[in-house]
Amino acid sequence: MNKEKKEEILKTPKGMHDILPEEGRWWDKVRKATEKVTEFYGFQKIETPILEQAVLFSRTVGEDTDIVQKEMYTVKTKSGDTLALRPEGTASICRAYLEHSLSKAAPMQKFWYEGPMFRYENPQAGRLRQFHQIGLEVLGGVADPMYDAQVIIAMYRLLEDLRIKNITLRINSIGCKVCRPAYKRQLQAYYKNNLKKLCGDCNKRYKDNPLRLLDCKNEKCQPYKEDAPNFFDKLCSSCSTHLKSVLEYMDELGVPYILDNQLVRGLDYYSKTVFEFYAEGENSWALGGGGRYDYLMEMLGGKATPAVGGAFGVERIVETMKSQGVSLPERTPKKVFIVHVGDLAKKKALKIIEELRHAGISVTEALSKDSLKAQLKAADKEGAAIALILGQKEIFEGNIIIRDLKNSLQESVPTERMVEEIKKRLK
Ligand code: AMP
Repeated sequence: MNKEKKEEILKTPKGMHDILPEEGRWWDKVRKATEKVTEFYGFQKIETPILEQAVLFSRTVGEDTDIVQKEMYTVKTKSGDTLALRPEGTASICRAYLEHSLSKAAPMQKFWYEGPMFRYENPQAGRLRQFHQIGLEVLGGVADPMYDAQVIIAMYRLLEDLRIKNITLRINSIGCKVCRPAYKRQLQAYYKNNLKKLCGDCNKRYKDNPLRLLDCKNEKCQPYKEDAPNFFDKLCSSCSTHLKSVLEYMDELGVPYILDNQLVRGLDYYSKTVFEFYAEGENSWALGGGGRYDYLMEMLGGKATPAVGGAFGVERIVETMKSQGVSLPERTPKKVFIVHVGDLAKKKALKIIEELRHAGISVTEALSKDSLKAQLKAADKEGAAIALILGQKEIFEGNIIIRDLKNSLQESVPTERMVEEIKKRLK
């Protein structure tokens, strides 16, 4: 006899995860805290498509970056367009800002977003192929260091509100069009004689993106970083004053920071301020990061527009909350539980649930269970205060039993008085 082939159970693609209901409670906590913080600091929510034209990212994130070179998921459409699953959020927000002429509404605007991002990385703890970001952006107006400070402070407060401890903020300046080229040349001159001893990636960086030599995590490149020329000495006066002001704001607001002259970021569009948040003593990865990107709008064909922003990785925040022992609020139990006995009662129960919904009373059930005992056990597990019991007899008499689950006292009441009686007992 031919045995029917059993289909294998499919799994999520590598580096991508389901967020099951229990896990989702952590995400809700992060989302609620984000909504509160962004509302307070005046950021408006914005949503953009998950797919964008691939060129949006090659032009802004940078043709030579790992994200564009190695990690972007691209899709060729039937009509021949090349789209990409967004690897980050900032470029899309700027695209939307230009496409809809949002600058006309107000010279300076603040936006926040949340959603999945995609990077074809080597999956490991804290590094996924589909991950989620929460980002904040301040677009337009003037390049005032006050806005750099406000993005940083809003992000810092969000971590505090989520009860994340030992927050470390690292800040640096990566200069501007005026001072960066000379610093890059200086870095190249410093590394030139050691190229053979550096990793393959660094040899590539040396040519295409020398700032990122400072970002290498490879063991064999570490000794050379220590004595690399310091950008602080080479910043032009505008960048130097800007950095000083951001740091003064941090001092004034009481936000501790580490000035880290080796902090450069994996995206090309940054200028002046860059920053990252860590939870010290936890994992080595950054919880979030960001910076100023005054040239990005021009890369997209817009006018020169000052802008600054940052983003958190939600998975990393949730992981840190768990490992630091942050607690979740207790679930609020549904107070009323409906219990049926027999098929007729099961049918009637659905109608009663609707009546209660109409009366604004939240109710839960275990209609899939038939035994009275199993249903009462489920009511107890839920922590309900009242069970409404409906059997054949009650249906014929037009009644329902209201049982107090604390003292097990019960009373049969006419169904038309049910809502009134429940409300009285729940008071
Ligand atoms: P970035 O867009 O690279 O500046 O990243 C901002 C934040 O997003 C990081 O600090 C992480 O928290 C998070 N993130 C970036 N890439 C990943 C990834 N592959 N997996 C999980 N989180 C990520």
